[in-house]
Amino acid sequence: MADIDLNCNNAKCRKRLTNIAWITSCSHAFCDKDAEVSFLNNSQDDIVCPACKTSLPEKHDVVQADLKPTEKFKSMVLAGLRPDIIMDIANRALTFWQYQMYQELEYQKSFLKQCGNKISRIEENCENQITKLKNDLQKERRNNEVLQEDLKNKEHRITELHDQIVEKNQLVQNLMAVNIKLRCNTNKTQPANTDCEMYPRKKYNIGPQALADINPQAGLLNETEFDFRPVSPLKPEGAKMPFQY
Ligand SMILES: [Zn+2]
Ligand SMILES: [Zn+2]
Repeated sequence: MADIDLNCNNAKCRKRLTNIAWITSCSHAFCDKDAEVSFLNNSQDDIVCPACKTSLPEKHDVVQADLKPTEKFKSMVLAGLRPDIIMDIANRALTFWQYQMYQELEYQKSFLKQCGNKISRIEENCENQITKLKNDLQKERRNNEVLQEDLKNKEHRITELHDQIVEKNQLVQNLMAVNIKLRCNTNKTQPANTDCEMYPRKKYNIGPQALADINPQAGLLNETEFDFRPVSPLKPEGAKMPFQY
């Protein structure tokens, strides 16, 4: 019992009462601050209990109790009273204490119930969020699988295109070689001192410039000087190889 203290019965205060308590005849207890507002500085004639609104008109309806009485006070407060009165006073004081403990127990039950309800709502909210996040995660995994499959298909398509480019490039080079041989054969049949001198070239480039050289009267250059590059209609200097091998 020594570890148990009263609490202010103002639900918004509930200050722990260790030294002074203001006790009402309706069995409620209040701290100094609440007593000052409700009892001491109350300008109204009708003083009421802040907890239960009971009217407290009598002188001893509100008393100040010293919760840490001195040994002298303990010796003197009931001294001289008959044992039955002492027991009656003690009984009423114990009833007051019992009521306060019961009230505190009910308050704690109500508080625990509110906390339990709050925890239940939080748990339900968390479970809903977890379910939503799991669904989102599942959806993202499916999207990722689709993207992975799409990426795989695109990589496969790129590989196919690369192979086709290599094949086409080889074909172009073969055609260039055939073209050069045909031109060599043609130029060997040209008479000397013809318009070939109008197109002197030290190096043969395949492309628009090379096409300009395709003249039946053009001079023939050594095949070893030829620069084998695919013809590009867009780049006069000749197309660059799409891939380096
Ligand atoms: Zn209080
Ligand atoms: Zn009251």
